[in-house]
Amino acid sequence: MAITLPERQVPQHGEFDVIVVGGGFGGAAAALAAARNGAKTCLLEKSATLGGLGTAGFVVIYLPLCDGFGHQVSYGIVEELLRLPMKYSPVKPNGAWVDSKNATEEELKARRYELVYHPAPMSLGMERLLLEAGVTIYYDTLVTDIVKNVKNEITHVVVENKSGCGVFATKFVIDGTGDADICKYAEEECEVSKNNKPGSWYYSINTKNEIELRTKFSNIAKCPQNIREMRLDGTDFKQVTDHIVYSHELFLLDNELHNEKAIEETGKIKFFPGFVPSMACFLMTRRIVAPYTMTEVDNHRWHDDAVGIFPDWRKAGPVYALPYSSLYAQRTPNLITVGRCISTTGDTWDVARVIPVCAISGQAAGTAAALCVRENVQHFADINVCMLQNQLVSDGVKLERSLVENVYEDGFSIKHKTTKTNFI
Ligand SMILES: Cc1cc2nc3c(=O)[nH]c(=O)nc-3n(C[C@H](O)[C@H](O)[C@H](O)COP(=O)(O)OP(=O)(O)OC[C@H]3O[C@@H](n4cnc5c(N)ncnc54)[C@H](O)[C@@H]3O)c2cc1C
Repeated sequence: MAITLPERQVPQHGEFDVIVVGGGFGGAAAALAAARNGAKTCLLEKSATLGGLGTAGFVVIYLPLCDGFGHQVSYGIVEELLRLPMKYSPVKPNGAWVDSKNATEEELKARRYELVYHPAPMSLGMERLLLEAGVTIYYDTLVTDIVKNVKNEITHVVVENKSGCGVFATKFVIDGTGDADICKYAEEECEVSKNNKPGSWYYSINTKNEIELRTKFSNIAKCPQNIREMRLDGTDFKQVTDHIVYSHELFLLDNELHNEKAIEETGKIKFFPGFVPSMACFLMTRRIVAPYTMTEVDNHRWHDDAVGIFPDWRKAGPVYALPYSSLYAQRTPNLITVGRCISTTGDTWDVARVIPVCAISGQAAGTAAALCVRENVQHFADINVCMLQNQLVSDGVKLERSLVENVYEDGFSIKHKTTKTNFI
């Protein structure tokens, strides 16, 4: 059953060059890049914190920027964000990566360039960084729809917040919702992953008031079969609620198992749940189908429209170039995606959904939006890619094809995959 809501006039809260929807690592990096490149930028976030899954979801392992053989491949805002919590908390990247300039290749090979951080220093640091760059942030503001013109361009995003329903006018929209929600409103073609299991990360507290991050569920065998076998796509409110409720059930079961042992040994409760995520923690839900979709064949393959480079977080060796054409929408010319809803599929979606790749796509999309504004280009597809690449390089991103094409075995370069010349 459905009903028709009455037509009504709503206020316009502001007008921006670029609106970024969602303040996860993808959206935050995009807003930072857009503002630093001169665009009047607004970030709309439905919660009260930046970082998305990487802070509110307690996913606090910033996965590697290196290939596992001692070579850093990802540069730019992605590295700036990795090092950001070092300003506000006593954390350091793995091994010799804390000062890679003074380390040997052997030392760099020993560990991957990763960081385990705490949520609050990261989200507070991100907020300060964005505000310093001139980004307007509105929290507690949920984007519920978009308005398009006859050219299929988005002219406004529709929001619900403390002031009720309203709109923001914009020239460009960056979808950083993690679930491609704006792409859905724009009626873009999307792929949906139906493979999410309940369970996410949370903090337990022990009787000494020490906080412990729990990432594995020791009691999964005891959990009811319906939860164990449950697979969700996370694209409607019931699935989101199921994911949250069943994850909570797993947290309780996990604590119960620990306490069973502790009670047996000491007669006392050892663990109790401390903090649970304030958002649903899905791995992959919905993603855009852009002009180009990355797959396994893109491992070690250079793209002439590369706007970033990333490794495989799961194993040493594979390196990917991120094509610009895997970011922007096909039907809605002023819409682009960042983060875990860019155009990647199969195994490559799993490689690309993680924090570093979200930040890399964010910097690329934010810079693209700002260049469109500066060069008076109306559509993302029409941008001069060479100009975009040059801007990214001057902003600290390395776009060297040798980083992608060099194939290493145990640290030694064994071959170049192709020999085409780099046109940058
Ligand atoms: C259990 C689990 C473990 C993981 N482990 C790791 C790991 O160890 N290391 C790693 O690097 N990655 C890991 N990941 C993946 C990684 O955390 C995420 O893929 C990444 O953080 C996603 O960033 P994002 O910016 O694309 O989206 P999100 O982090 O999902 O951010 C989206 C933001 O948009 C906001 N939003 C959504 N819709 C709207 C709307 N309509 N209006 C306004 N705001 C909106 C949300 O509130 C949120 O802040 C893990 C993920 C999960 C679920």
